[in-house]
Amino acid sequence: MKIHQNFTGGNIRVKEISGDTVILENELRDTEGDWFYWAFCVEGAEDREIAFKFESKRLGYWGPAVSHDLKDWHWLDSVDGESFTYRFGSGESPVYFAHNMLYHPDRFIAFAESRALEVSELCRSRKGRSVPCLHIGDGNRSIIITARHHACESTGSYVMEGVLEELTTSPIPNTRILCVPFVDYDGVLDGDQGKSRAPHDHNRDYTDAPIYPEVAAIRTHADRYGCNFGFDLHSPYHKGGNNDRIFIVRNKVEKLEKFDRFSALLESELTPDAMQYKKENDHPPLTGWNQPSPNFAFTSNSRPECDLAFTLESAYFGTKENKVSAERLILLGKCFAKAIRKYIGE
Ligand SMILES: [Zn+2]
Repeated sequence: MKIHQNFTGGNIRVKEISGDTVILENELRDTEGDWFYWAFCVEGAEDREIAFKFESKRLGYWGPAVSHDLKDWHWLDSVDGESFTYRFGSGESPVYFAHNMLYHPDRFIAFAESRALEVSELCRSRKGRSVPCLHIGDGNRSIIITARHHACESTGSYVMEGVLEELTTSPIPNTRILCVPFVDYDGVLDGDQGKSRAPHDHNRDYTDAPIYPEVAAIRTHADRYGCNFGFDLHSPYHKGGNNDRIFIVRNKVEKLEKFDRFSALLESELTPDAMQYKKENDHPPLTGWNQPSPNFAFTSNSRPECDLAFTLESAYFGTKENKVSAERLILLGKCFAKAIRKYIGE
């Protein structure tokens, strides 16, 4: 049996194997403090039943996300504290397990091609990779939509796919959209946590001297075309309380009426098959961790031309009544895009 992290998004450290029990830990890499993301591949365990254990809080409510191809993910729906057991069928190899349902960048490229959207290069990453982006439409209004400022937060990518599906099916007139699906592209590919990187992560880099080329490129675009609306798609903390929900981070007291209007529109556009959102779960400004910082949403919302910019947080697991799946996150994205259109009034 081979347990490894040699794939897009891989992150694991095998601490110990004894018989059919494996003790695992994730790699924090350059993240300061603790974080919970992991993803690993098992090969050569056919016809065996293996118990996988973590020694820290690493598993969600439904056990690991499981995949055979890194494209389709489902929950194991079985978990015992911080352990799960998997019975490998004959010929079942490789099998991927992860903290959350990963979103492979190839999926985004295939999605763009299926919609005849041309993928452009935003910039070169620090590691020299070509960072993908989409430029959609043209006009006086500028919308910037981003995801993965924090590399591990894949629920935002599914939401983004739904947003784009809707906005390319029924475009908003007179509007230019920049879409950056993987702001921390190196981190997404390398399987980094991305959150709380030293000296700071991508979503604390909207300063006068950004250290990440992706952030510099987004800033340059905003300076050239403006940013009338900015939507940044994230996943919250691991689990518990509001982290199990969908919520908007309201980042400015003086724009609370705008937030109220948007939230009401999103509620009214929600279909029952989508991940459910309730306005009452929005995080109020200047409360707890929600303080001004050089993050994308706050700095965008502070630009004079900006009407509204915020972060949308989408749970990794959800609740029994509102359980996360790729499909339900995508449907949430479609409803979110409809709310954007109504808010703008087109
Ligand atoms: Zn985040």
